[in-house]
This record gives sequence, C-alpha cells and structure tokens, in this order.
Amino acid sequence: MRRQIIAGNWKMHGSRVENAALVDAIVHKLPNSSAEVWVCPPFVYLAEVGRALAGSRISLAAQDVCAETQGAFTGEVSAAMLRDVGCAGSLVAHSERRALYGETDQLAARKFAALLAAGLTPILCLGEKLAERESGRTFEVVDRQLDAVLDLSGVAAFSRAIIAYEPVWAIGTGKTASAQQAEEVHAHIRGRIASRDAKIAALVRILYGGSLKAANAAELLSMSNVDGGLIGGASLKAEEFLAIIAAARA
Ligand code: PEP
Repeated sequence: MRRQIIAGNWKMHGSRVENAALVDAIVHKLPNSSAEVWVCPPFVYLAEVGRALAGSRISLAAQDVCAETQGAFTGEVSAAMLRDVGCAGSLVAHSERRALYGETDQLAARKFAALLAAGLTPILCLGEKLAERESGRTFEVVDRQLDAVLDLSGVAAFSRAIIAYEPVWAIGTGKTASAQQAEEVHAHIRGRIASRDAKIAALVRILYGGSLKAANAAELLSMSNVDGGLIGGASLKAEEFLAIIAAARA
C-alpha cells in the first residue's frame, strides 16, 4: 500500500517566532502515525525551519522554484539552492501561482524538470476552477496540466514525484470536495498515468488539497486513491495539523 503523506503549505504566513512555536509543537507532539510529514515554509525561513526539524522525521519543501539553474533571474531561487538549504522537494504550480502569477502548464513542466535534475521531489499541483467543474471540464483540465509534465519529463519521472489534486474552488474557501469527488478525480489521474505505465501509476502518491481539516480528514484520507493531503490554513494550527496526521491511513 502507498504510504500517505501529510504536507503543510504555510503560504505567505509566519514569522521567526511563530514558526519556531509551530515547529516545536509539531515535532514534539507528532502522533505515532505511519504518514510521511512535510512542511513548506516561505523561502526566507527554509534554512531556519530546516535546522529546527533536524533529527525529526519531518521533511522540508519549498513553495516554488525557478525553472532556470542559475544566472540573471533577480528574485528567483534555484532547485540547487533549495537542496543546499536542506529541502527535499518543492511545490510546483500551486493554483495561486497559476492564477496570480500567470504560471503556464509549460512553465510548471520546466520547474518540475528542474527539481528532478537537482535530485529533489516535485509536488505537482493540479486542479480545476469552479467554472471548469460546472461545465464538465474537470478531467480535460487536469489531463492538460498533467500531460505537459508527462510530455517533457516522461512517465518514469513520476516514480520520483508527488501529485496534489487541489480543486481551485476548494482552496481556502472552506468548501471541501466530497470524498467521492476527490476519489473520482484521483482515480482518473492515476488512470491517465497508467495508460503510459501501470507500475508507476500504482505507486505514485496523489494528495488531496482544498479546505482539508481535522473534521473532514478521516473521510477523505480513507479513500483508496487519496494518498494524503496538502493542507494550507489548517497546517498553521499545530493541533489541527497533528489531528490530520493522526487521521492518516495506517
Ligand atoms: C493549499 O494551500 O494548498 C490549500 C489546500 O489551502 P487550504 O487547505 O487552506 O484550502
């Protein structure tokens, strides 16, 4: 069975003092769960949070990465730099990056490839907007987002990557996809990968994200194709995040 992953996306929240308290609480009260745990702090806090996580079983990831390796790209951070400060991976093309910063499927694919080239794990975010769901285009949208990456990096790359299905209408809105809605799209994504390589499809972890919290975690995480969660708001509250970790499938 695939080991579940519970990953916290802190977005642009926190401070040195707040992060220290959050990490301390998570590290010291981590439940006896078999889930892998990741946290994704803002760039400027990565090294310090990484030091606070040292010796724990929690992995560090960034929220974004530059597609280029080095050079005149002011304000950007490369995959090698992320590895240098202790990251094991990074989110790629979170829906906020796609919507607010114009990230295209092609740029997402290049960022994914840059992480792999640096030996890091991409956590590829996919998901449809409300209007796309309502017009019956959910599968078409996630296929397009996924295919851009498959076409550039090949299906074998997914043996070293994680996928996060995050319906845009459920992120930060308090509206959660039902367990059946999540399962349906996760099964579809796995099927799309299986059409290229069944063995890789069976192993790739597909996380659900979108208003996941302690109260709905057990139901969502019990679905057979839901291999964990990418959690925004609830990952900033230690008790909530710990309860979600505890709800992960054994
Ligand atoms: C996210 O930021 O990836 C996310 C899923 O946010 P939230 O849990 O707050 O909806």
